Amino acid sequence: MKILNVVGARPNFMKMAPLVRCLRDRGIEQKLVHTGQHYDANLSKVFFDDLEMPEPDVFLGVGAGSPTAQIARIMLAFEEVCAAERPDLVVVVGDVNSTLACSLVGAKALIPVAHVEAGLRSFDMRMPEEGNRVVVDRLSELLFTHSQDANENLLREGIAREKLHLVGNIMIDSLANHLERTDASPILDELCLEPGRYGVVTLHRPSNVDVPETLLGIMAALHDIAEEVPLVFSCHPRTAKQLKGLAGYQALAGRGDLRLLPPLGYLDFLRLYSNSRLVLTDSGGLQEETTYLGIDCVTLRENTERPITIDEGTNRLAGTKPAQIVAAARACSGLRDGSYTPPALWDGKTAQRIVDVLERWAVQR
Ligand code: UDP
Repeated sequence: MKILNVVGARPNFMKMAPLVRCLRDRGIEQKLVHTGQHYDANLSKVFFDDLEMPEPDVFLGVGAGSPTAQIARIMLAFEEVCAAERPDLVVVVGDVNSTLACSLVGAKALIPVAHVEAGLRSFDMRMPEEGNRVVVDRLSELLFTHSQDANENLLREGIAREKLHLVGNIMIDSLANHLERTDASPILDELCLEPGRYGVVTLHRPSNVDVPETLLGIMAALHDIAEEVPLVFSCHPRTAKQLKGLAGYQALAGRGDLRLLPPLGYLDFLRLYSNSRLVLTDSGGLQEETTYLGIDCVTLRENTERPITIDEGTNRLAGTKPAQIVAAARACSGLRDGSYTPPALWDGKTAQRIVDVLERWAVQR
């Protein structure tokens, strides 16, 4: 069996690293393809170093552009890679444009596609990732899910039960494998932060950062919260760009202790949020990471494709209205009794379960 593994953007790397390692340990032939969707060093290279991922075998270098231009360029370049490599399987993770583009190419070339993190649905088609999720799942032969609700979504869409494999959350493999190694990160000392006495913020969804009134409202709420608890904000390049020209933003300066930081590497960021009192975010991944760690998460969105983080975890949806965000942050008690356990199969062994399935699949086909 020869596998082409695809990554393209920040949230892909922590989902792919454990799989690459496990395939290597089992002696399965694989190549890593990086589309170049994210190309800034602090959104890409640092993750290869921190997660000890091998350099990509193939770099497509598609760079910036509109979503359609990016998808088209990835498809053309990846088609050539598939023709040259003739893999038995294409593995895609998550829900970014690279995930969509490469699964389409695989399907057109009649190469089976495996989707890791299948079945997540926000039921909000205005969210760019939602269309990607639906299409990728429809095209995939093997669908690896991390929760029962994902299986139910897929069954409701008519996907055959035998294609579904509930294997758990592969991002948690990376988290669990690297948590101890974060002791070496100097980030808390550098920022003069005490464990449990600050909050962490990330924000990057277009619906939050590309609409000036929404972004200004969120920033006002964050500054209010920062008067009660210091906040450190890992600022995505998209958000930094929007903040620069945001009318009314200057008037908030000096209200509370809110510090803007550039995007951080995996280990520094893990050290930061794993020691925090609460996280405020619109990131999908962070909703899960905080649930695993038992840290309060306030999600600055109206919906989530990860309802298990609310039902069984530490997440609460605050929407994007300032008063609701402040109220949700205040409602975070930080207290979790000793009986708190993360969702089933979020245990650091998901990559092994995926490779078990792949080995059986390779024999049967
Ligand atoms: N992350 C990171 N450094 C940062 C911000 C986020 O390492 O400065 C990690 C975060 O812990 C999670 C992933 O990046 O593992 C989430 O990526 P992102 O929020 O870009 O995408 P989403 O999860 O929303 O798809």
